[in-house]
Amino acid sequence: MTDLAIDVGGTKTLVVVFEDDQVKPLYVERFPTDSTAGPENFIARLAKVCSKYVDPPDVVHWGLCTAGAVDVSTGRLIWSPNLGWKDVNLHERLSQLFGDRGIVENDCNAAAYGEWSTRPGIDSLVYVTVSTGIGMGIVSSGHIMRGSHGFAGEIGHTTVLPDGPECACGRRGCLQAVAGGRGLSIQVERFLGKRLATEEIVDLARENKPEYVEIVVGGAAILGRFLANMIDTLDPAVLVMGGSLGKNPHYRRLVVDFFTKFYYRLPDKTVGIEPPSAEPDPCIIGVLQLSRSMGVRKSG
Ligand SMILES: [Zn+2]
Repeated sequence: MTDLAIDVGGTKTLVVVFEDDQVKPLYVERFPTDSTAGPENFIARLAKVCSKYVDPPDVVHWGLCTAGAVDVSTGRLIWSPNLGWKDVNLHERLSQLFGDRGIVENDCNAAAYGEWSTRPGIDSLVYVTVSTGIGMGIVSSGHIMRGSHGFAGEIGHTTVLPDGPECACGRRGCLQAVAGGRGLSIQVERFLGKRLATEEIVDLARENKPEYVEIVVGGAAILGRFLANMIDTLDPAVLVMGGSLGKNPHYRRLVVDFFTKFYYRLPDKTVGIEPPSAEPDPCIIGVLQLSRSMGVRKSG
């Protein structure tokens, strides 16, 4: 008997197969999401990949997560700008393949739950991913905090610099336009006339090239301040910072330095800022544990 966990990313999809009730993966496979071919094409390729490792009647639980707005009560993907998909009933389609003991979740919520599940005794945890964009998931008293519309934790498009750089959402000075990977690249492109990879930009800042220092340190300072304000608002036990840029040692150190300087020191208040620890991936462990804890969901 097996459990199946799937993380649908903008570029790649990760499929991990577990023996039921184990957290050590049996099989791991990545394949191109190729979302422009549409959700039906994707689901057909997903089914083919899964069929190499699992016999559908043997799947006890399944969980799928992706970036974007998800209605968790129905398992419907409302909108994913990353994938370019709108209104896809992923729960219904996957139930047809693997049975209805499954869940569909937003990837940051899943990652927060995954990280929380690996830290016994922790009441509340915030997971922030800093990569192309910036997102957040919140677990409080062991539950994912979703808000009234399911969009809690959408910090990427909060305004942090009213006259700051333009964002993909059409507004100015959003957190991810100032401090996210794509945001840093666009700011560099403005003075250089060409795009550089985020890692290269951070490396040039580490080598003290002034224009790059200004952009990278500026972004890290704003993100550090933002996280300090968020910590003071939510008071979690642990803040986990993941994502490719969030795990970059230089950028991470800059953000942590600013964060540590700015958060409000009440007596006995200490907040752990930690790297992700759920293996092979926080989102995967999150959807695995959520699918096991939530049991049967209805298709809608
Ligand atoms: Zn924005």
